[in-house]
Amino acid sequence: MSRNAQLFERASRSIPGGVNSPVRAFRSVGGTPRFIKRAQGPYVWDAEDKQYIDYVGSWGPAILGHSHPEVVRAVQEAAVNGLSFGAPTEAEIELAEVLIARLPSLEQVRLVSSGTEATMTAIRLARGATGRNKIVKFEGCYHGHSDSLLVKAGSGLLTFGNPSSAGVPPEFVSHTLTLEYNNLDAVREAFAQHGADIACIIVEPIAGNMNLIKPAAGFLEGLREVCTQHGALLIFDEVMTGFRVGPQGVQGLSGVKPDLTTLAKVIGGGMPVGAFGGSAEIMKHIAPLGGVYQAGTLSGNPVAVAAGLATLRLIAAPGFYDKLAAQTAKLAQGLQERARAAGLAFSADSVGGMFGIYFSDKVPATFAEVSACDTARFNRFFHAMLDHGVHFAPSAFEAGFVSATHDDAVIQSTLDIAEKVFAAI
Ligand code: PLP
Repeated sequence: MSRNAQLFERASRSIPGGVNSPVRAFRSVGGTPRFIKRAQGPYVWDAEDKQYIDYVGSWGPAILGHSHPEVVRAVQEAAVNGLSFGAPTEAEIELAEVLIARLPSLEQVRLVSSGTEATMTAIRLARGATGRNKIVKFEGCYHGHSDSLLVKAGSGLLTFGNPSSAGVPPEFVSHTLTLEYNNLDAVREAFAQHGADIACIIVEPIAGNMNLIKPAAGFLEGLREVCTQHGALLIFDEVMTGFRVGPQGVQGLSGVKPDLTTLAKVIGGGMPVGAFGGSAEIMKHIAPLGGVYQAGTLSGNPVAVAAGLATLRLIAAPGFYDKLAAQTAKLAQGLQERARAAGLAFSADSVGGMFGIYFSDKVPATFAEVSACDTARFNRFFHAMLDHGVHFAPSAFEAGFVSATHDDAVIQSTLDIAEKVFAAI
């Protein structure tokens, strides 16, 4: 039995499914997850010391590549001074100030430890600030695993073919309206019926949890208009897209200004950091100023904040995003060319350092279109790439991530391997 298989068997005895987050278990693609020992730049190494080019990037945070020396040094230096104090630190102010300086929609932010906490609290804040209960989300978008958001969520849940989660009482989601992504008419209709009761719309402004789906022209602008018209708040969940698709996330690319923004992944540089923020007028509702409660023992953790600050400093280098977007596009276009040359129905798309690959003639625009892609062929592609040393996300419903260390040689060797694989699947 391989070392990875041995570890998986051992893990499965003490951890449900052998993993601490479901999609890592390879359930939808089958086979044995790779247990990672170390990572550097664009590479990860598994328990058998096999090297892989990595396009998972810790599901988004590793924008600088793994183990960037300056980020690691910042973590080491912070750790020497203490791991956690449960009292405010100057570094937290710096991180808040950097986020506010970079994203014009933010006047104040609160730091938390995960994307789930950020979105869960943003929803609570929207409800508290508006005095309304209903929320609107979109099919295929994932906003973390809090109860009211586990309705037709994407990626992990979709992968298991289960549109919602057991253990969530129907009453908890009875205020959650789930609509089709990119369908503005459905949004207008929902507001025509329930507008006075809707606290907020929460949206992945570029969706990365049903593969990669971009907003149709006018979709985000339309959401902004409907929210303003009905006094609801617009929440951009930029946990994945924040500092990943460009220096100001999707709000920078689209020019659409949300009322609240949620962040995580890149802003922690691989350590547990999340954040939510908006205008001071809205943020005044959060405790201790207002009546919307939120707290965290490790919120603003000094070691995690140090990793985030180092990462945010390094990605502010001139030309960083142009280079990242060019490398990502090179990968996506290169895969599409080679797959089509092999006669496969295949498309690819990218934005900034994020990409989607679809076993389909065209790039999907909705959850239904993504679901219609050829997942059996994706699974064969995934395993053949893995065998040849390329680590894509183990699900046809996940976006992929490129880092600043994926240089021309790394992209080229990925494409060379893919060419062989496309011919064989
Ligand atoms: N929101 C989005 C858009 C995400 O992609 C994720 C995680 O992938 C979350 C929220 C939840 O973040 P976390 O896994 O840090 O709780």
